[in-house]
Amino acid sequence: MKVAIIGGSVGGLIAGIALKKDGHEVNIYERSPSEMQGRGAGLVVQPNLMNYMTATGITREQLFGVPALQRQILNDQGYVTYRYENDTSFTSWNYLWKQLKQYFPAELYHYNHKLSAVKQTGDVVESIFADGQTITADLLVGADGYSSVVREHIYPGIEPVYAGYVAYRGLIPETELTDDEVDFFSNKFTLYPYNNSHLLAYLVPGNNGELDKGNRQLNWVWYLNKNVQDYKNLMTDKDGRFRQFSVPATFMSPENVTNLRERAKKELPQILADRVLQTTYPFVQAIVDMEVPKMYKGRITILGDAAAVVRPHTASGTAKAYEDAVALAYVLSKYKDTDQALKAWNDAEFVYAADLIAYGRKLAKGSSLGIG
Ligand SMILES: Cc1cc2nc3c(=O)[nH]c(=O)nc-3n(C[C@H](O)[C@H](O)[C@H](O)COP(=O)(O)OP(=O)(O)OC[C@H]3O[C@@H](n4cnc5c(N)ncnc54)[C@H](O)[C@@H]3O)c2cc1C
Repeated sequence: MKVAIIGGSVGGLIAGIALKKDGHEVNIYERSPSEMQGRGAGLVVQPNLMNYMTATGITREQLFGVPALQRQILNDQGYVTYRYENDTSFTSWNYLWKQLKQYFPAELYHYNHKLSAVKQTGDVVESIFADGQTITADLLVGADGYSSVVREHIYPGIEPVYAGYVAYRGLIPETELTDDEVDFFSNKFTLYPYNNSHLLAYLVPGNNGELDKGNRQLNWVWYLNKNVQDYKNLMTDKDGRFRQFSVPATFMSPENVTNLRERAKKELPQILADRVLQTTYPFVQAIVDMEVPKMYKGRITILGDAAAVVRPHTASGTAKAYEDAVALAYVLSKYKDTDQALKAWNDAEFVYAADLIAYGRKLAKGSSLGIG
């Protein structure tokens, strides 16, 4: 089967790898003009994704992430009030993406291809790119994230909705921490829960996947409720442009960076406030909700963030994209009939997403974050 995948991030690459393994003729079309780097931060590696990466030979487990063997809860003085066992490993979006990208044949991955429209005629799907180029496929996989053009074609009007809070984020090279600070954060998942908010911090690999002491980075995430007016101010970047979903590092307005730092000084224990203050370029992501009633129409499918956005507290965005992608390859190999395959895929993945969405909302509510 000739498969066109739109979006070459985690979901698109895993779909590409899995479908190609099953003998399909696969191409990935990514709008970015070149390698995506320096834009991501830390994320939890869920066991399902880790197992797939190692079993497929994409990576070696021992090289994959920075483990956090303990979870530690801080009080407002920065003292550890509670410490318990933790089995999470952390990686960085960049490192994960690079490993997947290296594994997928470069000649089948096409940068600088921004999808602008889709047409479906019978069992043939046409993709039209911004430069006018058109390609056809037997199956179109929309792995183009939460602003998906593919989804817009199937479900015009279904868009991510602001959930009432944001995540400020930052990455600090380990070399900028003192030895005591490195010890404090090493092998730990650090959490500071307080009034209607929490901040979490953990070490992730260096930009090129370095896992050794001295070359890692400290990643922090600080969740804060923001009413719609404050959200609009915050998402207006240094050039006055409103960005609906995220303001990348270097683009936050100086005023918003100052506000963030002032708030950190007032509200956070010293050890965490210092991390916010020493982050040269913090960035911010709006937390959104989005789900579709069905993940396919005819020969057009959508997966990962394009189909459903889960709250970050579940630490499952990449793992969900992975599940959707490998499950798609699996049903296409199991069923001879494509309609039957896609129906089976949707039935399973839809329930999986719905459970994660509900779980994420429950976790946010438990932390008094957002509007329900
Ligand atoms: C640069 C980047 C950094 C991220 N950093 C983190 C992180 O630090 N921590 C974390 O937990 N999650 C991060 N995420 C989100 C996380 O990776 C997603 O939840 C998860 O990867 C789901 O992946 P996805 O492939 O469904 O969607 P996404 O990762 O959102 O990927 C969508 C892809 O589609 C491409 N695309 C969009 N529109 C078009 C179009 N019209 N034509 C062609 N291509 C298009 C985008 O450029 C992107 O590569 C990041 C995503 C991106 C893109």
